[in-house]
Amino acid sequence: MSVNLNRSIIPALGKRRITTSPLRIGLSEDCHRLAPGGPLRLGGVDIPHDRHAVGHSDADVLLHAVTDALLGAVGLPDIGELFPNTAEENRGRDSAEMLRLAYSRVQTAGYSIVNLDCVILTQEPKLSPYKKAIRGQLATILSVAESQVNVKAKTGEGVGPVGEQLIIQAQCVALLELK
Ligand code: MG
Repeated sequence: MSVNLNRSIIPALGKRRITTSPLRIGLSEDCHRLAPGGPLRLGGVDIPHDRHAVGHSDADVLLHAVTDALLGAVGLPDIGELFPNTAEENRGRDSAEMLRLAYSRVQTAGYSIVNLDCVILTQEPKLSPYKKAIRGQLATILSVAESQVNVKAKTGEGVGPVGEQLIIQAQCVALLELK
């Protein structure tokens, strides 16, 4: 039996539809290795801990995730393209500064934050005492209301690279609106 390859089982979409929605969504994930010696910087807050995140910049895994979610929502180049880890100017760089620059690019494209929701995955330290401070700092960096940002924390249940405290991870989803 011959198969007609010209006949797709997928219905033709017809004319390409261009969205007219003023909303855009962005998703991101980041991880950094952990090494002995604190503090652990998260969301621009230095948290007392016996490990720190390793990176070319200040290795703030949460701010990197937020930066990429914002850039991704608008289809801009990602954090690695905007701030290469091979550039000397980015060595030890404050991730809050990179986030502000990235968000200014997003705003120049016409978009503003509706809300962000973030997850930090780390076995230690327990982040409950610091979540409010992290949320507040994130809102301050972006000049938005605290009600527009949310930060949650999860452990690695003691298994895998997060559970064994080899890495710290962060995820972010961002909703933006065309102004
Ligand atoms: Mg990173």
